[in-house]
Order: sequence, then C-alpha cells, then structure tokens
Amino acid sequence: MNIKSYQPRKLSIPVTELEQASFCQLDDNLRSKTLEEEFKSGVKWQKVPNRYLKMSPEEIDFEINRMKSIIGSKLYILGHHYQREEVIKFADTTGDSFKLSLEASREKEAQFIVFCGVHFMAETADILTSKDQKVILPNMAAGCSMADMAPSEDVEDAWEFVSSVSDNYVPITYMNSTAAIKSLCGENGGLVCTSSNADKAFTKYLESDKKIFFFPDQHLGRNTALSLGINLDEIKVWNPFKLNGGLSEIEIKSAKVLVWQGHCSVHTRFNVDQIEMAKNDKNAKIIVHPECTNEVVSNSDYVGSTEYIIDVVTNSKSGSVWGIGTEINLVKRLASENPDKDIFCLDPIVCPCATMYRIHPAYLLWVLDGIGAGLVINQVEVDFETRINSKVALDRMLEL
Ligand code: SF4
Repeated sequence: MNIKSYQPRKLSIPVTELEQASFCQLDDNLRSKTLEEEFKSGVKWQKVPNRYLKMSPEEIDFEINRMKSIIGSKLYILGHHYQREEVIKFADTTGDSFKLSLEASREKEAQFIVFCGVHFMAETADILTSKDQKVILPNMAAGCSMADMAPSEDVEDAWEFVSSVSDNYVPITYMNSTAAIKSLCGENGGLVCTSSNADKAFTKYLESDKKIFFFPDQHLGRNTALSLGINLDEIKVWNPFKLNGGLSEIEIKSAKVLVWQGHCSVHTRFNVDQIEMAKNDKNAKIIVHPECTNEVVSNSDYVGSTEYIIDVVTNSKSGSVWGIGTEINLVKRLASENPDKDIFCLDPIVCPCATMYRIHPAYLLWVLDGIGAGLVINQVEVDFETRINSKVALDRMLEL
C-alpha cells in the first residue's frame, strides 16, 4: 500500500477552550445572570431575539413552565449533569452522555427532543432516534472544547496514514467527538465508547491482538490502556500539529495504543497538590473522572464516569468526606443532595464547563417558544450516510 504522509493542521486553540476562563470565579455563587449580562464577558454565543436578553430568571422560569405544559408529551428535555441548576431543573431526565444516549434511543413518543448538553450529544441523540423525531440544541454554539481538538478531516487523514502503516489498527472514539468521526469508526470495524465502558471497548480489541487508535481524549485513552496492563511505552500520542503525528513508522508499528492529543479543559485543571491538600487538611477520600491526567488518577482513591461518581458518593456513609475531581455544577448538586457529607471540588477556583454553560435558560425558552409557534429552531441533523455508519459504531457500544 502507498503511504501518503499526514500533513499537520495549523496551530489554533479552539474558541471554546479560550472561553473556559470567562466564567471562572473565586466565590461559589453559580447563579445565572440575564443573558445580556453574560454576553458582557465577550463570549461568542448564538444570537437570540432581543426580548430574551433582559428577561429576569423569574420571568424565564415562568415562561418555560408555561411552554412545557402547552407542548406536553410531544416534548422531552434531556439534561446533562454538568448543566447549570437553572436549566437542569426543567429536564425530564438527567444523566451523563452514556445514560442520555440510552434514554434518547428508548424515547419513542416525543416529537421534540431538546438536548440541554453539547453539540456532539445532540448529534448522537439524532442518530439514535427515529427520523420523525426532531433533536434540538438550545444554543448551537454549545460545542465541547475537547471535541473541537479533533476536527473530522484531520482524524480522517490521520486514520488513513496510520492504517497504511499498519493494518492492525482499529479506531475507537470517545462519545465526545463529531458524528463524522463516529462514522469513520463504524466503517472501519471500530466503535464509540464513553468513560463508563472504555475498558470494555479496549478489551474487546486488545484481546484479539488488535491495536487501537483512540480519539480525541489522550487522558481517557492513556488511563484506560494503563488500567488494562498496557505499558506506558506502548502508548504513543498522535500530535495533530506535527507531520505524521510526530511519530515514526516504527513507533506506530510497535505501539499498542495511539491516543489523539486532545484533552478536557475542565478535568485537566485538577492536580496532585490539590489532592494532597484535600487528604492532609480534611482526610478526604478522592474520586475523579478518567479525563483527568494519569498523575491525578493514580493518586485518587476512586476513578470513574460521572454516573459512577454520583453512585459512589451518594451511597457512601453519612459523615464521609469527598474531594471530587469533576465539573463544578455536578459537585455542587451532589453536595446539596447529600447534606450529611462533606463534599467539595478539588479545585478551589470555581470553573464550570464553559460549553455546557452556553445553555442559558433564555435559550431553552427561545426554542420552546419556537416549538409552540410551529417553528423548529436549532435542529441538529446528521446526514444519512454519516448516520448509518455512526449508528453501527454506537450499536457496537450498546452491545458491550
Ligand atoms: S466537561 Fe470537558 S469534555 Fe465535557 S463537555 Fe465540557 S469541555 Fe467537553
């Protein structure tokens, strides 16, 4: 086979990553302001009609409830755990991306599925629901900085190069990626995984002596491979900014796992100093998400998906103390739902996921008003061909 080299992409930082710091603060008052005030931070969110800009939280709440009762059972609102309180309270069901994708695949009645999450989740919901169901993302600018680090064309070029060097690779993508990357995985014998089943996905291929090219989160990829006994020197990082990913053909042939150089700007804020402080000052148990660095994961007592974190902390003994390494809205919610425990975020600076944060309640009201008026605003639709192969990759995940 002819080996055509991979041309590096231009060095650029996703705008979602740049915006991450806009809503970080030292006090822990996470209450939403009016959309107009939030726009003042200079963020690049989707434009909405002026009337939504100045609405008070009380007016928005009243109107959302009114629209929910008008639309009734034709509407189903999915809310990701990292959503702000003022949005998640309207969700018919809440979950992490895995649970919500299952919910979407089981929902047969609702005509309108409003996804209060980020773009790749709405795409996944569209793939898993029927053609007459319409999936709506309240703010089209709600992407994911990690998913933005793996543009589909770059992944396609990288895959073409790697599979021409060694035909033993299988592509696996984290749920946090575009539908086009999911489709590439479906078409090439691979699958989609989430943080709750990445170990099963890796095992499925490693057991049959396959090599894995994992997109786009290097940390989840590395943590999963190490937990399955792969040595660190058998895991290589594909740097999309370098010619041929910065790897020689020998390195690609000898590696067992290649990980795309992407990361989550929320979970990479956690570090070992924070863990040591939580252990020394409060004798806390530490639980973190596998999107954290391996250093953080290795120094923690428990590691797992968002649903796992909720389960472990909720079912722990009264009086227990937890330092948590995941998104702040979830940590705050866990703390308020478990007043008998001391629950805190490892990072003293309060930093919500900037892209989830783009679902301001005014956007939710805007799309509900649209449905009420017979307009589908912000429908997320995956084209037919991409949908077919992505569905294959998602079905392989659901079979795990
Ligand atoms: S928490 Fe990280 S991975 Fe999840 S949506 Fe936000 S930026 Fe993306």
